[in-house]
Amino acid sequence: MQDKIIIAGPCAAESEEQLMATANAIRSSYDGPLIFRAGVWKPRTNPNTFQGIGEQALEWLQRIQQSMNIAVATEVATASHVVQAIQMGIDYLWIGARTSANPIQVQALTDTIAQELKKNPTHRIKGIMIKNPMHQDAALWLGNIERMEHLGIPIWAVHRGCGHLPAWEMAYTLHQSRPDIPLLIDPSHMSGDKESIAPLLTNAWALQYDGAMIETHIHPQDALSDAKQQLSPDELKTLLSIPIPTTKDHELLWLRSAIDEVDNQLWDLIEHRMSIANQIGMHKRKQSLAIVQQERFQHILNKRLIWAKNHQVSDKLVQIVMHAIHDESINVQER
Ligand code: PEP
Ligand code: MN
Repeated sequence: MQDKIIIAGPCAAESEEQLMATANAIRSSYDGPLIFRAGVWKPRTNPNTFQGIGEQALEWLQRIQQSMNIAVATEVATASHVVQAIQMGIDYLWIGARTSANPIQVQALTDTIAQELKKNPTHRIKGIMIKNPMHQDAALWLGNIERMEHLGIPIWAVHRGCGHLPAWEMAYTLHQSRPDIPLLIDPSHMSGDKESIAPLLTNAWALQYDGAMIETHIHPQDALSDAKQQLSPDELKTLLSIPIPTTKDHELLWLRSAIDEVDNQLWDLIEHRMSIANQIGMHKRKQSLAIVQQERFQHILNKRLIWAKNHQVSDKLVQIVMHAIHDESINVQER
């Protein structure tokens, strides 16, 4: 594990005591290279939830950095965040998934970083971590990396998935075009719950990821944001003691990760389709309509066969899958 970059710390800075206690507990249980993370400005969906402490929390991070001799990282989403973070000597900045979706914003942050570093030559940043955009767009992720690379500061790509979908294929696309950019995983945001973190991290280690960002809180159950996915420092210690799997055929593992994810989506869609079929069954019963309506099935089958002519799917597969799905839909409606 010693050669991996480990970034750990809470989703959000909540109080100086919370930050200090978390940083101390992590440091005493993990002695490899460590960057301490905490969000100061939080991109929250709901405006009535905790939005982050703001500027004051930068002072807490600075005190941890100085008293513990540890590098610190925070998320920046606006030019003013950049100015404040650089002035407070924050070592690493990260660009979050929502900001990463907006190239104009990423360019504005890049320009502000360049201006700040030029204005004051004593200011420095050790690295910038760029998360993937929230939607599956490897080209945009790569574009953000290219925008920021001109700064001459080390750039790392952080793979956090899209929503709670890993999007392995997107990360593989980025990694294939830029194998020189360190690739890190953020299994916390990728999964959204602590149970899924270990298998995601194990897969990333098998794929030779260079490091991981893992949300860790001194009392996860009391966290003001992302409580379900944050680990306690003890849980982090256990996670980081998982042996790194040795894999010979990385390309096969990347492709299998991608195909397993598509299978998961396929089955989620089939389950969803059956739940709609169930509602149709209830509607037909209420309206005294026949459950089996052959002309409707013929219509959707013909439509799919026409579609198959311009896609890499055989007529045979369309017939087999459509009949299997339709038979099961009838079963669901007749239940
Ligand atoms: C975070 O790291 O706390 C965060 C908000 O991440 P993301 O942008 O990946 O959702
Ligand atoms: Mn978070």
